[in-house]
Amino acid sequence: MKSYEEIKKIDLVHKPTPLYKLNNISHITGKNIYIKRDDMTGIGLGGNKVRKLEYVLADAIECGADTIITTGAAQSNHAMLTAACCRKLGLDVILVLMKSGISEKKGNLLLNDLMGVEVIFVDSDSIRDLYAEINRISDELKATGKTPYTIPIGASVPLGVLGYVDCVKEMVEQSEIQAIELDHIVCCTGSGGTYAGVLLGSKLLNSGIKSTSIAVTPDDFYPVVTKLFNQTCDIIKKDSLSIEDEINIFNYAGDGYAIPSERGNAAINLMARNEGLFLDPVYTGKTFGGLLDLIDKNYFKDDENIVFLHTGGAASLFAFM
Ligand SMILES: *Cc1c(COP(=O)(O)O)cnc(C)c1O
Repeated sequence: MKSYEEIKKIDLVHKPTPLYKLNNISHITGKNIYIKRDDMTGIGLGGNKVRKLEYVLADAIECGADTIITTGAAQSNHAMLTAACCRKLGLDVILVLMKSGISEKKGNLLLNDLMGVEVIFVDSDSIRDLYAEINRISDELKATGKTPYTIPIGASVPLGVLGYVDCVKEMVEQSEIQAIELDHIVCCTGSGGTYAGVLLGSKLLNSGIKSTSIAVTPDDFYPVVTKLFNQTCDIIKKDSLSIEDEINIFNYAGDGYAIPSERGNAAINLMARNEGLFLDPVYTGKTFGGLLDLIDKNYFKDDENIVFLHTGGAASLFAFM
């Protein structure tokens, strides 16, 4: 077991990603809204998965892996960014993706194609079937002398969670330089790793920063996030810190994962028209839509400085809209 600082990672993210105030949206909403631009992590088209992959791919390399296998929906940002990082690091990569939702070679599927990545489609919505296919491919690779390494969906494993501990640390450093106080971070939850990292980072730094997450799938994420949080405490030798009262998750999945919502699309338009920034219909649009709705419901304190964590995803605009 190692401490947080001792755990190996590879430098993939262009750090620090910008943190600044959204002046126009702050004016419109009457709130102080900042943005952390983790859509600008600097590889592929950017996004949150790159921070997680700094740790997970370091582990893969340490394990002697030569082929990375990962999985997700057809338009998975995580899969595309894993492929992009593998291309940079000279690792082979195989993506095992759900077939449903593919129509044409658009969005992330186009980007995977440009990178010349091997993509295997599984005609099932069941995660179990995806992992069965991964196991089959792994065995086949091992039989030919290869060393495969599987990254679970969203890289939401304890090592991946550490990427968002890093992000909170980075934001706190930026806020000190800029002499602003960050009160409340709002992020997206799709598989739980990002939010677990935000919670852990805030706690480890004793920052007093509150956090809230918007779920974009219908799942109950409370147990998922709690478990990831505790497992990550374990790998960095921290006695489990008590977190139960600090987890705030609101569901804004609408009709379901990767089904665009009216509220999400309105948020995409608002951000594009007032700040010249692009959100996406699967994750960040619904998240920012949720944030705006929570403002309407007086969820935030009057003078709170709110940070919207932009986790990326704009490639899927070209597949879903
Ligand atoms: C994966 C993803 C998320 C969700 O992050 P999790 O750590 O899986 O909860 C949010 N936004 C974008 C753009 C993503 O690709």
